[in-house]
Parts: sequence; structure tokens; C-alpha cells
Amino acid sequence: MHHVLVTKCDVVDCCFNHNNKCRSVAIQVGDTEQPACDTFTKGRDHCGFDNMNAEVGACKTTHCSFNKDMLCNAQGINVGWKYEHAECLTFKPCE
Ligand code: SF4
Ligand code: SF4
Repeated sequence: MHHVLVTKCDVVDCCFNHNNKCRSVAIQVGDTEQPACDTFTKGRDHCGFDNMNAEVGACKTTHCSFNKDMLCNAQGINVGWKYEHAECLTFKPCE
């Protein structure tokens, strides 16, 4: 099975963020327009598991070149704040 990790996330005002890692179990990414992190939850309170490193669950941004059958096939993804959203920065539009 192919596990794709959230390698790094810079969205520190998400409660799942701890030292630029995501401690959710898995995040959901995107819609047909934008590769936003749908699991983003504003707040600095603790959520998620300590020592967890989230994987990418489903990704609905099918026009990303790493997307296959709504799953991510990148080596890992980086998430950051872009266009007023927590976004997958590894997103690469299909040619
Ligand atoms: S914005 Fe998304 S990837 Fe980043 S810590 Fe929050 S849930 Fe995890
Ligand atoms: S790299 Fe592409 S397929 Fe993977 S999560 Fe980001 S937008 Fe989705």
C-alpha cells in the first residue's frame, strides 16, 4: 500500500499542527478547483494524536499531476497558507 505523508505543514494556527507536523491521522484535500486542506481547524488547542504524522487520505483535486483515482501519488506533501486557505503546496497542475 502507498502511504503519502504530510511531510511539513506551516499552518501553525491549525489545532492539528505541532512543530510544523500534522498530527491528524489523515487529511482530506481539495475540490475540483483548489487543493485546500479540508481538515484545517482553526485554533491552537490540542487536537490529534501526539507523535502522529498525518497521511493524505483522499484528494479531490483531480487536475493535479500527482492525482490518480482521487488518491495522491506524490512522495509526500507540504501544506502552507496560500490564497486565504491551508493549501497543498505540492500541487502541480496537469499539463
Ligand atoms: S492545515 Fe491541514 S495539514 Fe496542516 S496541520 Fe492542519 S490539518 Fe494538518
Ligand atoms: S500533490 Fe496533488 S494529488 Fe497530492 S494532495 Fe496535493 S493536490 Fe492532491
